[in-house]
Order: sequence, then structure tokens, then C-alpha cells
Amino acid sequence: MELWFTEQQTPDLGFTCKITKTIYTAKTKYQDLAILETKQFGRMLVLDGAVQTTIADEFCYHELIAHVPLFTHPNPKKVAVIGGGDGGVIREILKHEEVEKAYLIEIDQEVIEASKKYLPEISCALDDKRAEVIITDGIKFVSENKNMFDVIIVDSTDPVGPAVGLFETNFYQAVYECLKEDGLFVAQTESPFYDQELIRNVFHSIKSIFPITRLYLGFIPTYPSGLWSFTMGSKKYDPLEVDISKIKRIDTRYYNPELHKALFALPTFVKKIIE
Ligand code: SAM
Repeated sequence: MELWFTEQQTPDLGFTCKITKTIYTAKTKYQDLAILETKQFGRMLVLDGAVQTTIADEFCYHELIAHVPLFTHPNPKKVAVIGGGDGGVIREILKHEEVEKAYLIEIDQEVIEASKKYLPEISCALDDKRAEVIITDGIKFVSENKNMFDVIIVDSTDPVGPAVGLFETNFYQAVYECLKEDGLFVAQTESPFYDQELIRNVFHSIKSIFPITRLYLGFIPTYPSGLWSFTMGSKKYDPLEVDISKIKRIDTRYYNPELHKALFALPTFVKKIIE
């Protein structure tokens, strides 16, 4: 008998993928967790029925959310990831030699444990000497720490459950205060095709707090519509003013210096969302 997994991406649309094996399932304190084996994408982490990451396409998302901010800040030493329990963003951050410490602020320890056990290709850097895992609510963490980080990366689930507050103005204000005086942050901000109101609200919220606000796009095959947005708020450095000839070549499959500014060139319908 064939087994198929379907994520209901919108009330009227599903993403369906054949499963060769259910590797692990758990009901954690915060969400339903599953690790599925698929032919098309390899192993897949699913939370509350939504695909978080897969072995085949994780590089698209993790490289884009990590390297764009880290190559925009000229000297990122202390970096925090809010969410990101699979460890993929930490792995990318630690490719930057100047980073002294990368903190993972994840609410659900079970996501980290399952990723370490079943997704070692993604979670492999979580035990690095420069990585520190803190199990707590990211909203609480940023509101309790001031002037601490060069870069903050918000790698959250969709805005449901414990992640709702990660898309709100109060949180962005706390992120602003948690950053050093020239700090910057990036958040994953969903699909420009399906989540236009969310993108508009988040962009204008961030713009009301940070002097520089920019939206960029990437292609992630397993996320709704494939087209994905990231929003950056920066106190000082503008990603569009980076001298791309000075960007170091690191080992990546999606990001490269030529893409750094090009990612911010938006299709007309996306420009209209944030006008
Ligand atoms: N790349 C994925 C995406 O865009 O769908 C997100 C991956 S990562 C697994 C998301 C993580 O955010 C989850 O492990 C979840 O537990 C965590 N998370 C959700 N709300 C949080 C909060 N308030 N504080 C810290 N972590 C949170």
C-alpha cells in the first residue's frame, strides 16, 4: 500500500508527497512532530502538518536566511537564531569565521533532539564549540536581553501557536533593543503569493522601528508556492550598499555574491505588497 503525506497549504490547496517510511512521530509540549522518509526530498521534518525542512531543499532556505544578513553586517561576532531547532541556520552561520558565538533560542527541545538523531546533515553544527543552545521562548529571550547581538535571525514556524508573537510589532521592538547599535535582523516572512497581508503588516511594522527595511526573495520548492520572502530590519548597514567584490567565497549551493543584491530585486506584484 502506498502512503502519501499531504500538507494543507491553503484552505483550497494541498502539497502531497509519497512517504516511503514514517521514521518518528511525537506529540511534544508545543506541537505534533514527524520525521518522514520520502523519495522526492529525502527525510522531511514536519511540525503540526507543515513541512519545515527537507534534506533535498534545505540549503535554499538556510543559506538565504543566514548569508544575506551575515554578509551585510561587516563584522558579525555574536549571532542569535530564534526558532531554527533543526540546526540548519546555525550550520550556515558557523561557516563565517568571524562569528565567535551563535546562540540557538528554541522553545521546543524535542525538535532539536529529533533533528540531531534523524537529520544529522542539517543539525551537524549544534554541538560545535561556537554554538550554544538555549531552550526558551524567543519572545521572552529578546525582551530580557539588551544590546547583545550583531545579527538576529528569526527562523520560525508559520504564525500559529508559540510563533504568533514572532510576527508582532512588540517583538520587533524587542529585537531592535536586543541588537547592538549597528545590528540587523532577518525574519522568514512566508509566501508573497499566499500571505500578502502578513508580508505587508510585517514590513510596515519593521519599517516603523528600523531605519532600513528590505524584503528579499528565494525559491524553496517544498514551501507554499515555492516563492518565499525574508524581511530585514537594519540599524545601519544596507544590504544594497554591500561591496559584493569583498564578499568571501564560502561553500554554498544557493547563495553567491552575485545574488546578494539581486535577491532584493522584486517582481512588480511583490513591490506593490510593500508599497
Ligand atoms: N524553516 C522553517 C520554516 O520556515 O517553516 C522553520 C524551521 S524551525 C524547525 C522553526 C522552529 O521555531 C520550531 O522548531 C519551533 O519550535 C520554533 N518556535 C516557534 N515559536 C517559537 C518561539 N516563540 N520561540 C522560540 N522558538 C519558537
